[in-house]
Amino acid sequence: AQQPAPGNDYTIATDITFAPFEFQDESGKLVGIDMDLLAAIAEDQGFTYRVNAVGFDAALQAVTSGQANGMIAGMSITDARKATFDFSDPYFESGVQMGVLESNDSITSYEDLRGKSVAVKNGTEGATYAESIKDQYGFTTKYFADSSSMFDEVRTGNSVAVFEDYPVLAYGIKQGNGFKTVTDKVPGASYGFAVAKGQNAQLLQEFNAGLANVKASGQYDEILDTYLNADA
Ligand code: GLN
Repeated sequence: AQQPAPGNDYTIATDITFAPFEFQDESGKLVGIDMDLLAAIAEDQGFTYRVNAVGFDAALQAVTSGQANGMIAGMSITDARKATFDFSDPYFESGVQMGVLESNDSITSYEDLRGKSVAVKNGTEGATYAESIKDQYGFTTKYFADSSSMFDEVRTGNSVAVFEDYPVLAYGIKQGNGFKTVTDKVPGASYGFAVAKGQNAQLLQEFNAGLANVKASGQYDEILDTYLNADA
């Protein structure tokens, strides 16, 4: 592994309640695929860091304003974001899907959203997708700062659906969160680690080098297995 100069210490921003990528375990510790991957890469590359779990939109702002050196938050590598961020190599395939309450039999397609409200999260691809089809299907959008508030909005019955990343939806459903999917996945961009455009090139290089190493060593697969293949 390439050895960076000693003493590299970074502030990394992330989302909250975005299981299985970042979430608090029963003891309140921040865990998840992103957190374990970052830890493994930092160890491989010999850098230290602290994580600020501030929410997705707040993480975007922390990075662009220079309050954080980078972010790992199940962040999709989109062309629009490449104007303001530099991304690592992709580390996980994702995209958006609609989720409704398991008990809801009246929403089986986007057509059934007419006149209803759907819940989305600030700054996300799920929100962008919902906005792109809302006029066609005649629904309105309501915005939340984090995924758990977005799901709660549907539990209360104020909104009928969420648009969320499908690995996150699938994980929640497997954990028994009371939701289901009724429409197809919308394949999207893969997740990447991000820094502000033109900034922190060394951190980005370390992330990429470490990612390649933890993939080669099998650690990457172990991390995924821990969260995705464990019996619920
Ligand atoms: N992958 C989505 C995006 O980049 C959502 C990320 C998130 O909510 N943490 O917009």
